[in-house]
Amino acid sequence: MDRTLSIVKPDGVKKNVIGEVISKFEKNGLRVSALKMLHLSKEEAKSFYLVHKERPFYNSLTEFMSEGPVVVMVLSGGNAISKVREIMGSTNPKDAAPGTIRAAFASDIERNIVHGSDSLQSAAYEIPFFFSALEIM
Ligand code: UDP
Ligand code: MG
Repeated sequence: MDRTLSIVKPDGVKKNVIGEVISKFEKNGLRVSALKMLHLSKEEAKSFYLVHKERPFYNSLTEFMSEGPVVVMVLSGGNAISKVREIMGSTNPKDAAPGTIRAAFASDIERNIVHGSDSLQSAAYEIPFFFSALEIM
């Protein structure tokens, strides 16, 4: 049983698929343990994605992540981290397996609808970035 952080990115909120994304997680046995909507500032988006600060897409990614509201959530379950990554599909929707969230809804490698922690270590940074212990059920 582990916990992971997922985000419906600004493109997902605009495309009105918050419910479909959450539903896909629930149908695959994950539980929503915390949930909220917020609008990241550019500085907050830069802090969240600090691991990517040297990457060429860092500025564009953090502009995108701060362009509108997002829905952030903690998901819990057996192998939650790898399960969420599988349900999301590959970063580039062109490579995402049929039936995954990104294959269904993503426009391109940047605007790819959803985020999920990629390791225990990143979940341990990302969950407390958004939620206090009292907010996680
Ligand atoms: N991204 C991008 N261009 C790239 C790779 C990634 O714009 O070449 C964006 C995309 O939104 C991705 C995020 O940066 O989801 C974080 O990249 P990462 O490699 O961690 O992909 P993820 O873990 O989200 O699949
Ligand atoms: Mg990642």
